[in-house]
Amino acid sequence: MSSQPAAVVDPYALSRDELTALMAELDQPRYRADQLHAWLVRGVDDPAEMTDLPAALRAALAERFAPARPELVAHRVADDGHTHKLLLRYPDGEAIETVLMLYPKRATVCISTQAGCAMGCPFCATGQAGFRRQLTAGEVVRQVVVADAALRSGDIGSAHLPDGAPDHITNVVFMGMGEPLANLPATLATVRWLHDPEGFNLSARGITVSTVGLVPGIRKLADLGLPLTLAVSLHAATDTLRDELVPINVSHPLAELEAVVREYRERTNRRVSIEWCLIGDVNDDDEQADELAKIARRLRAHVNVIPMNPTPGVRWKEPSKRRTRAFVERVQRGGVEITLRDTRGRDADAACGQLLASYTLGAGTRLPAAIGAAERVELLQVDPGVQR
Ligand code: SAH
Ligand code: SF4
Repeated sequence: MSSQPAAVVDPYALSRDELTALMAELDQPRYRADQLHAWLVRGVDDPAEMTDLPAALRAALAERFAPARPELVAHRVADDGHTHKLLLRYPDGEAIETVLMLYPKRATVCISTQAGCAMGCPFCATGQAGFRRQLTAGEVVRQVVVADAALRSGDIGSAHLPDGAPDHITNVVFMGMGEPLANLPATLATVRWLHDPEGFNLSARGITVSTVGLVPGIRKLADLGLPLTLAVSLHAATDTLRDELVPINVSHPLAELEAVVREYRERTNRRVSIEWCLIGDVNDDDEQADELAKIARRLRAHVNVIPMNPTPGVRWKEPSKRRTRAFVERVQRGGVEITLRDTRGRDADAACGQLLASYTLGAGTRLPAAIGAAERVELLQVDPGVQR
C-alpha cells in the first residue's frame, strides 16, 4: 500500500491547534509547536532558519511547508514616510494592497482579505475590478507579519521609519481590499492569530473589522466573544440611496443591519463605528445627515466621515470643503460624535484597490517574509494630494 504524500501548506495558514497536531504527527513533543509558532510570529517561515529545532525536524518541515510568500511589486510612500502602501503579488499573479500607517506610539496595518471584491460598491476601486479570489488565512496573516517584521528591522524597503514609530504593529484594520465577512474563515483565523497572547498579542479593541453589512457574518463575529471594533460602511441612511451605493443593501436592508449591529454592541459591549464615504451631491445633503444622525443615535455609534477618494472611472467626487463641514456639523448637532478623517486618514484608510488601479511596476524590494527583487525600491510616486 502506498501512503498518500503529506499535504503541503503555507505555515501561516495553520492555527496553534494545527501546529500542535502537525508535531504530534511527526512524533514530536508539544513544545516544538510553540517553538515553531514563535519563529512564525517573528516572521521566519523557512524551517532551515529555525535553529532551535533538530535538523531532522527542520528537514521534515521543509517537505511539508510551501511558504506562500508574496512579491512586493510596488511601494508608495506618502505623508513624509508615515504612510506606506504596499502592493503584494502572489505566485498566481493576483495582487493585493497592504497599507502601513505610522503615528507616534501607534503602527496600524490595513489588510486585505480578498483579491478584488464581489460587493460592487460603485465608488470603490476594488468594487470596480470585481472579485478575483479569496485570500487564504495564511495570506491574510502574512500581511501583518510582513509589516511587523519590517518595523522590527527598523527598515521598510529603502525607506527608513520616522522617529517615534513603534517597532511592532499595534493595531490592525480589515479595511483593505475585499469584504472580510465574505471570507469568514480567513478573517476569523487571522483574528485568532492577532489576539493570541503568544502570537501578535493585540488587544481585541486594537483590531477593527470593516464590513459593508453582511448580517450573518456580523453575527458570527459576535460569536467570537471578543470586543473587536466593528466598523460598518453605511454611506447611505435611506434604503433607496443605499441600494444604489452599497448593492448588498438589497439583500440586507437598513432595518436588518441596524438590528444586527445593535445585537453586536450588546453582546460584545463594544461601541460600533459607522463609516461614511462622503460623495459630492450624492450622500452629502441635509436629509442624509439627519437620517444618519438618527441611526447613529439609536446605535450609540461613532461616525467617521471619509471624503471620497477620486477613483478612475467613477464620475463622483468628494464634496466641497464647505459642504463637508456643513454635513459634519449637522450630524454633530443631532447629538452624534463624528470625526472627519484628514487627508492622511483618507488616503491610508481607503486603500481600496487604488494602488492596484494605478500602480507602476517598480524595481521591487526585499522585505522580511516577502520575496522581492534584490534592488532597492524607488519610491514610485508620492500622492500629490496628500498633506498632513
Ligand atoms: N469591504 C469592507 C472593507 C474594505 S473597504 C467595507 O466596505 O467596509 C474599506 C473602506 O473604504 C470602506 O468603508 C469603504 O466604503 C471605503 N471606501 C471605498 N472606496 C472609497 C473611496 N473611493 N473613497 C473613500 N473611501 C472609500
Ligand atoms: Fe467591496 Fe468594501 Fe469596496 Fe464595497 S467598499 S466594493 S465591500 S471593498
